[in-house]
Amino acid sequence: MTFSVHGIPVARGVAIGRAVIVASSRLDVAHYFITSDQVESEIDRVRAGRNAVVDELQRLQQEMPKDAPHELAALLDVHLMLLQDEALTSGVKHWIRDRLYNAEWALTTQFEVISRQFDEMEDEYLRERKADLEQVVERVLRRMLGAASPVVAPPVRHKRQQDLLLDDTLDVPLVLVAHDLSPADMLQFKQSVFAGFVTDVGGKTSHTAIVARSMDIPAVVGARSASQLIRQDDWIIIDGDAGVVIVDPSPIILAEYGFRQRQGELERERLSRLRNTAAITLDGQRIELLANIEMPDDTLPALKVGAVGVGLFRSEFLFMGRHGRLPDEEEQYQAYRRAVEGMQGLPVTIRTVDVGADKPLDDAHHDDAHLNPALGLRAIRWSLADPAMFLTQLRAILRAAAHGQVNLLIPMLAHGSEIRQTLSLIDHARVQLDNQGMVYGPLKLGAMIEIPAAALTLKLFLKYFDFLSIGTNDLIQYTLAIDRADESVAHLYDPLHPAVLRLVADTIAECNAQGKGVSVCGEMAGDTALTRLLLGLGLRSFSMHPAQILAVKQEVLRADTGKLRPWAQTVLEADEPASVLAR
Ligand code: PEP
Ligand code: MG
Repeated sequence: MTFSVHGIPVARGVAIGRAVIVASSRLDVAHYFITSDQVESEIDRVRAGRNAVVDELQRLQQEMPKDAPHELAALLDVHLMLLQDEALTSGVKHWIRDRLYNAEWALTTQFEVISRQFDEMEDEYLRERKADLEQVVERVLRRMLGAASPVVAPPVRHKRQQDLLLDDTLDVPLVLVAHDLSPADMLQFKQSVFAGFVTDVGGKTSHTAIVARSMDIPAVVGARSASQLIRQDDWIIIDGDAGVVIVDPSPIILAEYGFRQRQGELERERLSRLRNTAAITLDGQRIELLANIEMPDDTLPALKVGAVGVGLFRSEFLFMGRHGRLPDEEEQYQAYRRAVEGMQGLPVTIRTVDVGADKPLDDAHHDDAHLNPALGLRAIRWSLADPAMFLTQLRAILRAAAHGQVNLLIPMLAHGSEIRQTLSLIDHARVQLDNQGMVYGPLKLGAMIEIPAAALTLKLFLKYFDFLSIGTNDLIQYTLAIDRADESVAHLYDPLHPAVLRLVADTIAECNAQGKGVSVCGEMAGDTALTRLLLGLGLRSFSMHPAQILAVKQEVLRADTGKLRPWAQTVLEADEPASVLAR
């Protein structure tokens, strides 16, 4: 039966495919596709994990004191029975053999399938066995994770895998549905085959949404209980424009969305012709359209759409999902250098690491212990708290600057003391490199304006920095006191709130007045509904995901900044800027 689930649209377009549910687990489980020659060893891994747990439970049974409560023995019996149940073992093999899921993914997927069957049972006693199943599955997962860690193959579906899947699923695209995906998970999925994403939690500018957008595939976040309502293999449509997920669509609905999907493809094709067109407004203003990237290889799509540089390299993605082993200076240097060389002489702005809040290093470092991670040890605060780690990154960036034009960007600054400490560490990194006889290059220094305190003390920032970059994602979050990753307050997350616009407008105006560079690198820069407004406020440099550049360029080509300037002032002065903008 057709039904729909509503969420927050984060990446445009339509995706139609079969649902792949990534079950949430309390354990940090990797999800990736294996190759067909790894099938047997993956099945062996699950078997070994399960046998170890069976042994453990049997030992417990044998060693149980005579006077132990009868329920305890009965419980162990139940656990053993569940572990050896055919539905679990054959299901897991199916996901590994037919879908090429890695062992842990197969196990959690089959757990999800069986637990739904439990949910539907009339008998309360049986229904409650779901918790037991969860416990034994977690035991097995723990055993598997404790054993030699699996080779982490990238989740790319190889040709052979595609053939296998064709037999099974008749060449249908796969759409990922999860309760939540960490930014590190998303990065893993970045080169994967998924045609779209749906998550239960998250807001429009949560980092998971940002990575989904950078993949340029339709995505809906904050869809509440989507991962509960949608079942493995259900046909679903993701409408990334409206934020709607349609489950089990009728043929008429399918045809309608198929049509819209083709329209979208035609529109992309049309936009791709603008790749080599200079971004100049009708009144002759040259506008800089830069790319936001997460990994060095993202320079390729950036160049493909004609980006004139990288305005934001979120270096923290090099640090994530590494289970505490951070990249050393050499590894970072090679990564930054690859990005710099990848841009073929165009400037690359590397932001120092910004972890914390909704970007944990990995699940083990998730900042649950702190009540308010977004207000805690994040970004530059994290870097200044660990000078050795920060100096390592600074040296790597300075060395990469010998290979091209590099700008260094510092996130989340608010205090003069933080600015001075940061600058003195940059000097110190230079001295360290001098002492080692290492070659390094010149850097332009920039600060992110993403805390209202920074936007209100611009003179201080302009005294020390060559350029500013407005991080509207956080600036909105901190100005309006709205957690950017919390779907329950997403309706209040408003880029057009007069206070937000005032801070953005003043920052642009002050930089322009002092002849300093200023750009916007938050999601506002890539939103075509806001391009004219930002141009009217005097912005000439926009940094966004490569996927958004051509649509923004189209807006630029149609704009006349002379006419937009007075209009932008009326938007800025309005009580309800959104209604003026809509006119
Ligand atoms: C921002 O806050 O707008 C920004 C660009 O940084 P991030 O989204 O990585 O926090
Ligand atoms: Mg930010």
